[in-house]
Amino acid sequence: MGVGHRLKINRIAAPVTSLGPGRRLGLWVQGCTIGCAGCASTDTWEAAGGVVRPVEQLVPELADRLDQHELSGLTISGGEPLQQATSLTALLTRMRRIGALESRDVLLFTGYAWSRAQRIGPRVLDLVDAVVSGPYVASRPGDGNLLASGNQEMTLLTDLARTRFARPDTRRIQVGQSSGNLVMAGLPDAGDLDRFRLLMAKRGIEFGSASWEA
Ligand code: SF4
Repeated sequence: MGVGHRLKINRIAAPVTSLGPGRRLGLWVQGCTIGCAGCASTDTWEAAGGVVRPVEQLVPELADRLDQHELSGLTISGGEPLQQATSLTALLTRMRRIGALESRDVLLFTGYAWSRAQRIGPRVLDLVDAVVSGPYVASRPGDGNLLASGNQEMTLLTDLARTRFARPDTRRIQVGQSSGNLVMAGLPDAGDLDRFRLLMAKRGIEFGSASWEA
């Protein structure tokens, strides 16, 4: 399992402290056809974008970064991870087999509703601890934590997740850079990013383009 599989990714970042408990590794996949209005990550939609990575190369790289930064979990977002369910299954199977996820939880964000996610990616769901499911609906305020909009659901699949996700966290946004672009990790409320843009403009910093304005 893993040989020959490829995953299209948008980026990898660590430490991520805004998408799940503790300090985490973030893996954003590339490609999403769901098309939620108001999606903040339209740069992850195009399947032809991003970088195609062989799973057998990604596994040791992710394992190294988890150890190097002493991270407590892995968050997989996108893009739509379940649109690459076979490769993601291969990746997580290999990571679990080599012990890279020992004592670490895996949180998956999917834009599919829970019932559909179970039909599309049952093997992925067997390999993760917690899932946030459902499309982003800008008109339905989220929970101030991991649900970006009120229609989304959090499903805790393991005892590890039930322990770690028991206490609601404060919503945070991290801003950094990747390949010359300003990148963000976290779940902004509707309008936050436009307010951020205005704030930066007042300080004389103009963005060339922004992923939430496609
Ligand atoms: S919010 Fe997620 S599921 Fe919805 S369009 Fe954006 S990347 Fe796709």
